[in-house]
Amino acid sequence: MSSDDEYEVLIAQYGTREGHRAEVYLNYGIYGQPDGPIGMDYFVWIVRNARRTVLVDVGFSVAGGRNRNRTFVKAPEEIYAALGIDIAAEQTIVVTHAHYDHIGNLDKFPASRIFISQAEYEFWDSPMGRRAQFAWSTEDEEIDALRAAYDAGRVTTFSGTLELAPGIDVIEFGGHTPGVSVVKVKTSEGTVLLASDTVHYYEEYEDDLPFAYVADLPRMYDGFDRIRALVEAGEVQHLVPGHDPDTLNRFTRVEDGPLAGIASRIGRIS
Ligand SMILES: [Zn+2]
Repeated sequence: MSSDDEYEVLIAQYGTREGHRAEVYLNYGIYGQPDGPIGMDYFVWIVRNARRTVLVDVGFSVAGGRNRNRTFVKAPEEIYAALGIDIAAEQTIVVTHAHYDHIGNLDKFPASRIFISQAEYEFWDSPMGRRAQFAWSTEDEEIDALRAAYDAGRVTTFSGTLELAPGIDVIEFGGHTPGVSVVKVKTSEGTVLLASDTVHYYEEYEDDLPFAYVADLPRMYDGFDRIRALVEAGEVQHLVPGHDPDTLNRFTRVEDGPLAGIASRIGRIS
């Protein structure tokens, strides 16, 4: 028997692209390192046990991916269908931040309940979110879909830490975007931190390399420190970054079914 406050965390890759280091890391030239290729993978995260399912971000849309030459590995809707998750039904979705690759399919969840930090929601609802440096990472229609959900009363905002359910905390960090959040989940294999884009890559965290797209650099650095403190205090055993192509290798691969080869899991629920 598993307990009500422990979950299985599924990490499912839905997209990919090739980039280079000088493009993904902020002012990479200051480190005196040569530029080089670096992959970027795109994930959705599913947290579930016998009692509840929580979707953490929902991936980019066809248009959002096409506008930036991103490639689908498997459409997020197909991932949810493979897991028996009915996107038309009421689902619980945590939006870590409102970038196109995290909210692109919200409009396909017409009955969802959405949780997002207040700072994140307010920023993208404000004129500043439409300025070119910020707007590049979003799609107007997708911000509109988030706003429509808010106007329909389906969005809950929070500041600081939200205990979403027993064993699931959503924690506001900021930095990459004004209110980007992480999700801390208890599992049978220890506590998982879904860092989303507070940390895109393991080396971003390990080598203290801020990402190129940043709303508040001191808060981004502070986010690295907060994660280190959680790890050092033994409060987090498994760090899952937002976009590292090595992520699936570090956890238990899903070996069969429609997600074989594109997903890994942490924790057992039966
Ligand atoms: Zn992202």
